[in-house]
Amino acid sequence: PAFFDGVTLAPADPILGVNEAYLADEYPGKISLGVGAYRTDQCLPYVLPVVKRVEQQIWDDPKTNHEYLPIDGLPAFQRLASNLIFGENSDAISDGRVVTVQTLSGSGALRVGLTFIARFYADAPSLPLVYIPSPTWNNHRDIVPDAGLGEARTFRYLHATSGGVDLAGLLADLADAPAGSIVILHGCAHNPTGADPTLAEWSDILSIVRERRLVPFFDVAYQGFASGDLDVDAASVRLFADAGIDMLLSQSFAKNMGLYGQRIGSLSVVLSKRTAVVPVTAKAVRSQLKAVIRPMYSSPPAHGARIVAGVLGNPVNYRAWQQELAGMARRIGDMRIALKAALDANGTPGDWTRIIKQRGMFSYTGLSKAHVAYLRTTHHIYMTSDGRVSMAGLTSLTVQRVADAIKDAVL
Ligand code: PLP
Repeated sequence: PAFFDGVTLAPADPILGVNEAYLADEYPGKISLGVGAYRTDQCLPYVLPVVKRVEQQIWDDPKTNHEYLPIDGLPAFQRLASNLIFGENSDAISDGRVVTVQTLSGSGALRVGLTFIARFYADAPSLPLVYIPSPTWNNHRDIVPDAGLGEARTFRYLHATSGGVDLAGLLADLADAPAGSIVILHGCAHNPTGADPTLAEWSDILSIVRERRLVPFFDVAYQGFASGDLDVDAASVRLFADAGIDMLLSQSFAKNMGLYGQRIGSLSVVLSKRTAVVPVTAKAVRSQLKAVIRPMYSSPPAHGARIVAGVLGNPVNYRAWQQELAGMARRIGDMRIALKAALDANGTPGDWTRIIKQRGMFSYTGLSKAHVAYLRTTHHIYMTSDGRVSMAGLTSLTVQRVADAIKDAVL
């Protein structure tokens, strides 16, 4: 037999698999509500105007070249990205307790961060447990064991009947987690449910985290997409960082700057206020993160980091970005209102309030697997089998058709 004869087919990615099926569909009126990528009201990918301008400046600069970046990425990017999420007045940053490295977008940050934890614990009697929300972005479940931390545990997150956060279930499950467990939390715009804790609920979560001495790992892939405001969407992260506890954070510029394929994000390790000698530990942590990255992919790509630094580091560009980002969030909000109104108007049975209550890119509609399959085969409308709809895939021209198709599926 040949060397590769024994290779068997891997299961299709639940999200990207939907897109493959969509691409293979030859029906001209097909609609994709699967992948979480922003689309304009003409259903086209969107390059933010500020990003285009900064890219132009990058190439107009005679000093631009294609040399390697350092292992931990572009220094200006590291500084600006962590200021963006932790805030200009963050004590953790001014104390030198935040160690930020550039990563291959949010996925890469999660992978490097969890691999760092697995290594750091390698000599301990046991590895920490990693808790992920139920449900969550599918990749969390796969990154945890690949990083060497074993199967992820889940904690309750979605309240089945209300479509909101099951706070009591969440707190009870975290109260049962052993000290030192890692807890993955979506900073805002939870994927796939679109349900976020209120600030008061985040305080309750923080209390349990402190009491049980858990280590939060915030995954922030949608800063600005939930409320349209970058600072409002960072409130959960800042609450935890200001508490002075140990934590990690992954940050992605895929969605909020529309830089999906540029693979630009960051990982931050925040040292608690109890850290004995902050500069020594911060230096050691950075060196260990670099030791994870170097054999994995050596160093990150430069272009996306330069774009982000060019947007965040220039007040005019930053203001332009805020507006363009708010515009994306607004269009998604408009689609929520339009879809809910169309479902009410055409008399689709059920309460669709959750569509306008949920935030961020997705709506967790409550449609069943069978409904989703019916929508695909009968109406050429594609979404993930859990009934998650990417709201940015809707346009003013398609929203009525989608509402009528949902009615047909539900009846
Ligand atoms: N985390 C969540 C919850 C996501 O939804 C995504 C993207 O869909 C990511 C992280 C990371 O995406 P990327 O690696 O493209 O930054």
